[in-house]
Amino acid sequence: MTDEFGLFINGTWTSPAKAKRFETINPANGEPVGSFVSATREDVAKAIEAAHRAYPGWKETPAPQRGEILLRAAGYLRRHKKEIGQIVSREMGKVIAEGEGDVQEAIDFVEYMAGEGRRLLGETVPSELRSKFCMTIRQPKGVVACITPWNFPTAIPNWKIAAALICGNAVVFKPASNSARCAVEVIRAYEEAGVPPGVLNLVTGSGGVVGTALVTDPRVRAVSFTGGVESGRDVYVKGAQGLKMVHLELGGKNPVIVMEDADLRLALDGVLFGAFGTSGQRCTATSRLILHEKVYEPFLKMLTDRLDTFRLGDPVDPKTDMGPVASREQEEKILAYIEIGKKEAKLRYGGKKLRGGAYDKGFFIEPTIFETPHGTRISKEEIFGPVLSVIKVKDYDEAVRVANDVDYGLSSSIYTRDVNRAFRAMDDLEAGITYINAPTIGAEIQLPFGGVKNTGNGGREAGTAAIEEFTEVKTVFVDFSSKLQKAQIDAESAV
Ligand code: NAP
Repeated sequence: MTDEFGLFINGTWTSPAKAKRFETINPANGEPVGSFVSATREDVAKAIEAAHRAYPGWKETPAPQRGEILLRAAGYLRRHKKEIGQIVSREMGKVIAEGEGDVQEAIDFVEYMAGEGRRLLGETVPSELRSKFCMTIRQPKGVVACITPWNFPTAIPNWKIAAALICGNAVVFKPASNSARCAVEVIRAYEEAGVPPGVLNLVTGSGGVVGTALVTDPRVRAVSFTGGVESGRDVYVKGAQGLKMVHLELGGKNPVIVMEDADLRLALDGVLFGAFGTSGQRCTATSRLILHEKVYEPFLKMLTDRLDTFRLGDPVDPKTDMGPVASREQEEKILAYIEIGKKEAKLRYGGKKLRGGAYDKGFFIEPTIFETPHGTRISKEEIFGPVLSVIKVKDYDEAVRVANDVDYGLSSSIYTRDVNRAFRAMDDLEAGITYINAPTIGAEIQLPFGGVKNTGNGGREAGTAAIEEFTEVKTVFVDFSSKLQKAQIDAESAV
């Protein structure tokens, strides 16, 4: 029998009577992973109410004490890293090293945020008047909703939850339906760490019902959303009706530029990891390879030779290089793009769903490479799978023009030995993140993360930017002159 899990509301796991349920399955073999409640609007309202009631007490809890709870949550994740890594691999299909890496990223961030509890910096600045003190302090927003995708099912929720909690917010968390089992582990970490009832709540169920209920409830003051552009736009529009702060982290179409002077072996490793790690389902995945014409053919040959040795299979097996894609819907969408690619470009490698034996039960797609002119759909739209579009360019200027001519701007990369060109690229590439001589993937939690254009709406996660996302800045003036002092007016007459 499939393990059943409830909602986590006001510090209690609960399964509403007659609740509808959904299951997640292992994309490598179709076996069920867990059964979860499809929460109703009423369930969501209960979770928001619990958060609303818990918020004042949590806000008043000194931030260093909140940090101690976070540190204990990180301890849970650290102790259970291997088993949670297995759950990640089993539920969404990334290979086990990446499954554990997902959990490690969560640990890193929660520990980092725990330390923020002893900082949460404001500013002190001089006043234009005597005997007057000016400063800013950071205050929580209130009840915040965290809505997350399945591709980093422990890291992304923790990026949001740990940051929101350290700042003193109460949280209602809605994970992707595909990765609900991983979300249970996220909650267990904070539950065991002693987070007070109501401060963190979990509601599982569809984006249309649960997500919309969160985004439209007036008690939710901010929404932190990571996912696709279409759903992000819907969340933004609905949140705007309630004048909420809506933070969006959306898709990408991330380029690696390989110049004629690049270290090709280094670039090869980077492109392989960037394009086919997590089966190409990272928001920062390398989905475009922009190749200088002088190295075009040799580099492509190196790439396809290496792919000949790639092992596709059970993600939990440490020898596997690439696992399945995360779900049937993902598989259908990626295969549809491959068909589009076959019509508008030249298929250079792969392009098929794997069939036969153990593959029949899962969603396995070969690593796929298209040679394409810039401007085709496969070269501009986010596919979110193991499909790489290779585009030939004649020089640096053309490479940058191609790199920038998409609707997204999350990550970018250039391989070159020319230091001047590397510095120019840092400036020229329209993206929130630029790597020099490294793949488009590999975020570190102590730095801001996010993108430009359709990738987001201007905010950043992680690093100290995470604190900005989850706090309001209050400006405080303390006048200890014991008289009315008028800014601008008295200050002007004093000189
Ligand atoms: P998605 O379909 O947009 O779903 C993301 C989350 O939003 C899920 O929890 C989903 O619930 C929920 N949701 C869907 N429609 C909603 C709506 N109308 N209102 C409120 N919530 C809604 O994205 P995904 O397929 O899970 O993830 C893949 C996408 O995420 C890709 O585009 C990828 O680039 C992007 N991503 C971006 C970043 C970044 O930091 N920029 C990081 C990772 C992923 P259900 O699961 O129940 O549908």
